[in-house]
Amino acid sequence: MACSATADAFSRVAGPHDHGRCLDAALDRAEQVCRERGARLTPIRRRVLELVWQDHKPVGAYDLLGRLAEEGWGSAPPLVYRALTFLESHGLVHRLASINAFVGCSQGGESHAAQFLICHECGIAVELHDHRLAHDLKAAADAAGFVLEAPVVEISGRCRACAAASVPESP
Ligand SMILES: [Zn+2]
Ligand SMILES: [Zn+2]
Ligand SMILES: [Zn+2]
Repeated sequence: MACSATADAFSRVAGPHDHGRCLDAALDRAEQVCRERGARLTPIRRRVLELVWQDHKPVGAYDLLGRLAEEGWGSAPPLVYRALTFLESHGLVHRLASINAFVGCSQGGESHAAQFLICHECGIAVELHDHRLAHDLKAAADAAGFVLEAPVVEISGRCRACAAASVPESP
């Protein structure tokens, strides 16, 4: 069921959890994807992936560049853009155009339709893989004679915790 999968996806990443496991899983997957494809997860690409996976909040290229510069990797923008392009091309990160930021993909390696719920208050982005939604979207595009190429849907709103925190107190 799409609904319960959606609820799980959110509580898994928005609530307290052992994020070290998310990070380890992401790095393992990246190693595996690169090995299978004969691509190289160079130290800089790996470090950028780690930084993107610091938490579940998307991060901008310039923030990444700032971190890399602090760590002594250098401060030339192509450094971070090349790494991000590599990671994106292997399905390890997604670029969220609406907020111009990058977020790690939990299904790295496979090309897939994705939908993101992005909380504009705390900044968390949750990736859904709702096949029914993707199917309906494709059907709607087909009906309009439109060819979907990058079926990434970005939806802005507030997560449950932020919505609950902003409920006005009753008088
Ligand atoms: Zn996590
Ligand atoms: Zn994804
Ligand atoms: Zn939130």
